[in-house]
Amino acid sequence: MTNSGTSVGRTGGRDGTLSSAGTEVDIAIIGGGIGGLTLALALRQHGITAEVFEQADELREVGAAVAIAANGSRILRRLGLGDELAQGAVEPTRLQYRHGLRGLVVAEHPMGETYTRRFGAPFWGIHRAVLQGSLSAAWGAERLHLGRCLAEVTEAPTGARLEFRDGTTVRARTVVGADGIRSVVRRALTASTPVYSGTSGFRGIVPLRAVPSLPDPAALQFWMGPGAHLLHYQVGNAVNFLAVLDNPKRWTAPGGLVEAAPGELAAAFAGWHPAVLEMITAVPQSARWGLFTLPPLHRWSSGPIVLLGDAAHAMLPHHGQGANQTIEDAAVLARCIAEAGPTQRAQALRRYERLRRARTRAVQRASWDTSAVLHLPDGPAAAARDAQLRGLNERLRWIHDYDADFTVVGSTRATAVRP
Ligand SMILES: Cc1cc2nc3c(=O)[nH]c(=O)nc-3n(C[C@H](O)[C@H](O)[C@H](O)COP(=O)(O)OP(=O)(O)OC[C@H]3O[C@@H](n4cnc5c(N)ncnc54)[C@H](O)[C@@H]3O)c2cc1C
Repeated sequence: MTNSGTSVGRTGGRDGTLSSAGTEVDIAIIGGGIGGLTLALALRQHGITAEVFEQADELREVGAAVAIAANGSRILRRLGLGDELAQGAVEPTRLQYRHGLRGLVVAEHPMGETYTRRFGAPFWGIHRAVLQGSLSAAWGAERLHLGRCLAEVTEAPTGARLEFRDGTTVRARTVVGADGIRSVVRRALTASTPVYSGTSGFRGIVPLRAVPSLPDPAALQFWMGPGAHLLHYQVGNAVNFLAVLDNPKRWTAPGGLVEAAPGELAAAFAGWHPAVLEMITAVPQSARWGLFTLPPLHRWSSGPIVLLGDAAHAMLPHHGQGANQTIEDAAVLARCIAEAGPTQRAQALRRYERLRRARTRAVQRASWDTSAVLHLPDGPAAAARDAQLRGLNERLRWIHDYDADFTVVGSTRATAVRP
């Protein structure tokens, strides 16, 4: 274990800002989201210092809740956050797939204790603010630099040069782009941009008392019907939902979030089961999230620059894996950097990329395939899908069973990619 952070100079100030221009740091992490903060904590666990630069003036998570599966929760537990997160989370009792209009259960799998026993770590439904809050509290303010929006990164003779919108610059020996789907760091590596899926989502958190018709509120449920589906799971005394529609066909807004016409969500689900209607009308209609995915990148790294999380492999949310894959990335990258030591940093970045590309690509593809089948009308294709969903537990084992730390140490316990 090395503390290579001491080798390249300066650290952040107590107020969370780097005061001087032209500062030198060892590892600069761009983005203080789930990926950036998890990486920072994982590096620290290996005795390595990093600086996190986040564009926002305060850390605020938008978008309701997030589902953390065993492949993510086992890593968060190893970072010492298990008890705290378990307290703020709800473990779904079962996974159910239903006919969206009639409410019939077409497939069901036990979760809760059964899931934890099976995969060696729990499945948590958790408020994003709680997860983000735990990660940032664990990291602390000293090396978290808020209000620092990266404008450009360029390779320099002994690392990279970061230029921020506020006019300041930083030189870093290694730069990790954990800056999300619209990553600025990625531009230094490739011209690839996210592709709109033709589907969009509305999200909300609804008090349990507002959905009296909902059967089994503690279950994680998918309600499926023609052109749409609704996913929900419990968080605290409420239900977090994501309603996905097969429209608009094209996305013209510059960002990923736009206002939708009032009543559009309710109109899309007209005629669906009363529990679905209660849920989507219990809270004001949210903005509309365009669901984007990133085409597989030819490379995730160049010289001292490397990508992590959505910046490298943004995916559709239908297996609830975007954040979980990001957490896996963080564990693997931290371990590769630690094992390589300060003199072999470039090799560490290439090794991380090699270890992560196939798996994240497989999860991306599985999420895309699932998108297509959740919106089928009644008929033979839907019946075939329902039969497949009944065997889902085994078919998705490769995602949940995976232990990112084991891939680095070379264990054969985990199946790295889809069988
Ligand atoms: C509708 C929906 C539902 C989802 N549900 C789930 C789920 O249940 N489970 C799951 O695992 N995943 C889910 N995901 C995916 C998950 O949210 C993402 O995969 C995850 O947040 C990616 O983390 P990240 O750290 O890579 O990026 P982000 O969370 O996007 O964080 C990026 C950070 O970088 C900062 N940043 C951006 N640009 C700059 C810049 N230029 N300079 C400085 N800072 C910058 C941002 O402000 C942000 O803080 C869902 C996604 C969507 C759209």
